[in-house]
Amino acid sequence: MTILFHEIVYGPVHSRRMGTSLGVNLLPCDGKLCSFDCIYCECGFNKDFRTKTKLPDRENVRAALEDRLQQLQRERVTPNVITFAGNGEPTMHPEFDGIIDDTLVLRNRYFPGAKISVLSNGLHLNKKVVFDAMKKVDNPILKLDSAFDETARRIDRPNAATYSVSQQVERYRMFQGDFILQSMFLRGSFEGSVVDNTTDEEVSAWLALVRSLRPREVMIYTIDRETPARELEKAPLEVLREIARRVGELGIKTNVAG
Ligand code: SF4
Repeated sequence: MTILFHEIVYGPVHSRRMGTSLGVNLLPCDGKLCSFDCIYCECGFNKDFRTKTKLPDRENVRAALEDRLQQLQRERVTPNVITFAGNGEPTMHPEFDGIIDDTLVLRNRYFPGAKISVLSNGLHLNKKVVFDAMKKVDNPILKLDSAFDETARRIDRPNAATYSVSQQVERYRMFQGDFILQSMFLRGSFEGSVVDNTTDEEVSAWLALVRSLRPREVMIYTIDRETPARELEKAPLEVLREIARRVGELGIKTNVAG
């Protein structure tokens, strides 16, 4: 079943990777907007969830978040993290930088111990306002599913004709290691082509990039729910753990969700 978030602020939910997380969706509430179109996306394929609905504006996001934080305070529920994820790519929102500034103010006012995380495909870091905003949050979580252009294009299906892994990696390098890398491992086929980023060739090349980027943490995960591409399967937990072991040998912390 495809999961779409129908509110700006949702949860808190317990996340496999982040604990008790209050979610913020900056994308349309009745569709999906993303510059990738990953074959594993829990929101479904872009073409199936197009929408004419406007994005929520900055003031609506601020008000919705403040309302929910006040409610949580009354209920004595403390979120570990405020997570920007939702129905697509949060950094595509034209007011993303201002919304992050508002969120920092609200977080400091209501739950100063909560972290702010942004799950991003990293494609828009070439815009200075996006990069600067991502530098302000506690956890910029950036996607890298393969070291090879062909595999990344097959799995993530970026909508930029000029997309390349090397360009993406250079954008991540600007964080000087102060970010979390997130990588999905899976197997199967899509449109008649084999998809498998768990081969030794794939993992070794990916590890070389991890070694050069030295993120402060690597999130290694696999499919958790139904995917829009039907012929995909989870990477086995022992495979994920072996990848994590190899990352651990580099002295980098890992988080595995199988
Ligand atoms: S980047 Fe995230 S939201 Fe966008 S298609 Fe991929 S999984 Fe879905």
